[in-house]
Amino acid sequence: MGISLTGKKVLVTGGSRGIGRGVVLALAEAGADVITCYREHGEHVDELVRILADTPGEHHVVRADVGTAEGVTALLEEARTRFGRLDVVVNNAGVISHIPFAELPLAEWHRVLDTNLTASFLVVQGALPLLGDGASIVNIGSRVATVGIPLRSHYTAAKAGTVGLTRSLAKELGGRGIRVNTVAPGVIATEKELSPEIIARYEGMTALRRLGRPEDIAGAVLYLSSDLARYVTGETINVDGGI
Ligand code: NDP
Repeated sequence: MGISLTGKKVLVTGGSRGIGRGVVLALAEAGADVITCYREHGEHVDELVRILADTPGEHHVVRADVGTAEGVTALLEEARTRFGRLDVVVNNAGVISHIPFAELPLAEWHRVLDTNLTASFLVVQGALPLLGDGASIVNIGSRVATVGIPLRSHYTAAKAGTVGLTRSLAKELGGRGIRVNTVAPGVIATEKELSPEIIARYEGMTALRRLGRPEDIAGAVLYLSSDLARYVTGETINVDGGI
């Protein structure tokens, strides 16, 4: 994509599928050394490992659940041992469900908040000793956080929380030269199956008349990770094709 991240040490949570996978591959292709994580092992994980082995740089794919404090600690210990420092942290791991608010179980509220929001708190707090002047934190939010959508009250609450976390951390960490931003995707086509009707409906809502792709989100993450964005912090960049 024309941006060089050569030598940068990068952590991306949830890189085995979807947007995270696209971000991992784009950052690695831009020259970064990347460590990423997942929860469930499968052929898709082996395939990612194979692709990264053929991509210059030092890359690591580890099993770690960022929805738990223990998982985050293990992941950051791996990053510290392998890289010794981090220049970029991308909080991407996320989960969603579609449940009417009246029936939303407390456990599901916690699962979605833990993975989408608390994980970012734990990862950034744990990564602080590894982050130096010029480091960039990118949180993957969601366009619906500021719009709202039925059946996803827990998810939008978490993603709106991400924006507040980003704003405050930008102000608290700016003095150390650490930037903190959010990328808010619109509807992105991933491995998840969407019906033709849903695809057509969402395509029609965008100015660009298509769904986003993981590499579209990766473009914004690359920019925010790079020195080109050296004066950008506390910002939310919508990458939604103009919804
Ligand atoms: P996917 O479900 O396709 O992929 C999620 C990735 O995160 C997988 O690699 C998954 O690994 C990993 N992951 C999930 N939970 C955990 C966890 N607790 N610990 C470690 N890894 C975990 O999601 P998307 O690519 O669609 O979404 C990525 C991010 O983008 C999320 O934050 C999501 O909210 C946001 N987003 C997505 C949009 C879209 O249209 N796709 C729109 C707006 C925002 P595993 O399979 O092993 O659990």
